[in-house]
Amino acid sequence: MDETQAPWPPRDELSITGVRAIVTAPEGIPLVVVRVDTSTDGLYGLGCATFTQRFHAVVAAVEEHVAPLLVGRHPADIEDINRLVHLSSYWRGGPVLNNALSGVDMALWDIAGKRAGMPVYELLGGRVRAAADTYVHASGESISDTVARAGALVADGYRHIRLQTGGPGLGTYGAPGVAGSYPHAPYPDGWDVNHYLAVTPALFESARRTLGDGVELLHDVHSRLTPKQAVVLARALEPYRLFFLEDPVAPEHYDRLPAVTAASPVPIAVGEQLSSVTDAARLVQSGGVDLLRVHVSTVGGLSACRKLVALCELTGVRTAWHGPGDVSPVGVAANIALDVTTSAFGIQEAHLFNAATRSVFPGCPVPRHGYLYPSPSPGWGVDLDEKEAAKYPPETGRFERWAATVRRPDGGLESP
Ligand code: MG
Repeated sequence: MDETQAPWPPRDELSITGVRAIVTAPEGIPLVVVRVDTSTDGLYGLGCATFTQRFHAVVAAVEEHVAPLLVGRHPADIEDINRLVHLSSYWRGGPVLNNALSGVDMALWDIAGKRAGMPVYELLGGRVRAAADTYVHASGESISDTVARAGALVADGYRHIRLQTGGPGLGTYGAPGVAGSYPHAPYPDGWDVNHYLAVTPALFESARRTLGDGVELLHDVHSRLTPKQAVVLARALEPYRLFFLEDPVAPEHYDRLPAVTAASPVPIAVGEQLSSVTDAARLVQSGGVDLLRVHVSTVGGLSACRKLVALCELTGVRTAWHGPGDVSPVGVAANIALDVTTSAFGIQEAHLFNAATRSVFPGCPVPRHGYLYPSPSPGWGVDLDEKEAAKYPPETGRFERWAATVRRPDGGLESP
C-alpha cells in the first residue's frame, strides 16, 4: 500500500492535496504560516509556525519533510497526523520540527472548524467565558516615560500592563537601551545585572504610586538572572503586588524553578522557551510555575496545548499563553480559543498589530477595551492574503544579530 494513505478507510473522499509555508514580515518580524489545501475547492486551513530566528529551517521542515507525510491523508485525522509528524523524525522534537508540527496541527483544526461550520472553540466544548482579558506592553527610555506609557494604556481600557524600562547597554530587554554606557569596560555597550536589579523595583514603586492599586502590573526578566538573584528580585517586588514575574531564569536552569517559585512572593510565569509538551508538563507537575505561558506555535499546536490545559485545570496552574509580535494572528486566534474554553485561564498577552499586518491577515484579532474576543466565523476566522503578504518579505539575520549584542560590560554573552 501507499504508506501516505490513511491506515483505515476514510469516511469520505476529502484529502489533503498540498502543504506550504508562507513567510511574511509586515512589522519586520518574520511570521511563518502553514497552509494545508484539500481536494475540496476553497477548503484550506492555516496554522502558525512562527520561529522568527530560524524561519528558513521551519519552511524546509514543513515543505521538504512534513508535506510528503500529509498529502493524500484525510484532514480529520488530526491526532494521528500530529503523532505521525512527531514520531516520524525518530529524533523527536526541538523548536524547528515542533514549529512545523504546530503549524500543521493548527491548520487541521482550522479545516475541522470550516467543515463543521463552527469556530474552533465550539469543537473544544464551547466557551466558559465570553472573551480573554489581556495584558499589553509599556516601555520607555526612563521610568517616568514607561509609567506615562502605562497610564495611557490604562486610559485606553487595559487592566493589565507589562512594564519594561530602558537603561544602560544594548542588552536591555523590552525597552530602549543606551550604547556606550560603560566607556571604560571591555564591552562599552554591555548590560549590567546589578543596575537591573536596582532599577526594576524602582520602576514598580513609581508605577504603583502613580497608577494606583486598580491596575495589574507584570514584568519579564527574559531569563537573565541566576536562581538566587530571581528570588532577591521577587522579594524586592513584593510590595508592588505583581500579577506575575516572567522567565526569571534561563531554560538551562529550569530544574531550579520549583525552589524559585516556592520562595517567590509573586506568581512566576514561564514557558515560552519550551518546545516540548512533555517538558512543559514536567514544569507544571514539579511546582515550577504558577502560570504556564507556552508558545502555541512551538509546543505542538492546539492539540499539545489542550493536553497542557487539562493538566493546568487539575493542578491549579493558570495559563498565560505567549502572544507578542512573533505570534501570527492565526496563532493569536488559537490562543483565544484556548483562553475562552478553560477555567484555568489566567491572562492573555496581546500585541497591537499594525495596519500592514491587519491587511495581510483579514480577521486579525484586535483587543476591544482590553478584551480579545473569539471570531464567530468557522475555523479560526483569520485568513491570509498572500498578495499582501508578498509585499513584506522577511529579512534574514536581523534577529540573530540582535542576540549578538546582548552582553555584560565584561563582554560575556548574556541570555537574550
Ligand atoms: Mg517573555
